[in-house]
Amino acid sequence: MKTSLPVVTLKGPPYQIGYKHGKMARQEIEHNLDVYFRRFKTETELSYEVAIGRAAKFLAVIDKVSPEYAETMKGVAAGSGQEILDITALNVRYELMYSQFSKIGLKPMPKTFGCTAFAALPIAVDNGHLMMGQNWDWIPEVKGLFLKVRNENGPDILSFTEAGVVGGKIGLNSEGVGLLINGIVSSKDDWARLKKPFHVRCWEILRSKTLGRAVKVIAQGQRNCSANFILGQQKAKGSGKVVDIESAPDAVCEIGPDRGAVGHTNHFSNPKILGVKQVVDEERLSTIQRYRRIQKLLNDTVRTGHKLDLAEAQSMLRDHYGEPESICRHNNLKLPEYQRYETIVSVVMDLYSKRFWATIGSPCSTEYQPITL
Ligand SMILES: [Zn+2]
Repeated sequence: MKTSLPVVTLKGPPYQIGYKHGKMARQEIEHNLDVYFRRFKTETELSYEVAIGRAAKFLAVIDKVSPEYAETMKGVAAGSGQEILDITALNVRYELMYSQFSKIGLKPMPKTFGCTAFAALPIAVDNGHLMMGQNWDWIPEVKGLFLKVRNENGPDILSFTEAGVVGGKIGLNSEGVGLLINGIVSSKDDWARLKKPFHVRCWEILRSKTLGRAVKVIAQGQRNCSANFILGQQKAKGSGKVVDIESAPDAVCEIGPDRGAVGHTNHFSNPKILGVKQVVDEERLSTIQRYRRIQKLLNDTVRTGHKLDLAEAQSMLRDHYGEPESICRHNNLKLPEYQRYETIVSVVMDLYSKRFWATIGSPCSTEYQPITL
């Protein structure tokens, strides 16, 4: 099946970029607000009033730590006809939800969010390009967008985001920097630290001209919540760097590529070094199973000296071993509807050609289509 991808091109100063995003995706943003405010309540025990109260505190933080991000959010609110605090809640939904996952996850409660991501160095890829790929497994109803942003100051960016969220989270830029992310929960996650939010960090990473700068965006200061980031940069054909950074609120841990590749899912490799307790409960089966599987697929290909090609990278993301909790994730019908997650976006990206091959929906049922920065 071939579906058309929702791609929006944005340019100009921050407010204008936000305004056009809001205007072009008005319906999708309204839809995402409905989905998230419902999920905040049913899944994470957060009422609308409490979520908005926390968003107000974060708006003051974002105004201070990243005025351009705040300006863009204000543009999104105006363009979509929504309240700024509703848009802020959407932009800090990672903090709002993951803090609650940490808090209530200590009780036995099934949660099955997750993503599988990998990167292969140019030396391990048939055309010498740095290749990164990820399935984003999340709430099936959430509406996504691909943004091409021409920045007035800073690199141009191609990214995937949720409609209404300013900062793309899977993406690349015109300097050859690439980003993949995995949600992780730890015992120390807490929105009330009121540090720079996750999506603002993703946005800053994608505005970084160098890998070193992107690493600093993650590592400097404290974080509200844990997350895993895979970063790469390719400047010239045949050469490039990849690093995986597991981040917890007070510490980060860098993991280098193993024989040309890294793979990550939704648990820490090094929780002790990071000084946190892993909160995985029933999710454990899915994340550990997907982790072992992506490592096996990399071991059988890249790590034996075989050079990966685009079709093979795509087929890794279509893998159904252990279905439904597989790399290509499908709804687990044994869980209540509000706790189901599936692959809703799949992206393979080429940092040299500055191109995505992407699907909206499971990569096993839709064809990958190219989007070039
Ligand atoms: Zn599938």
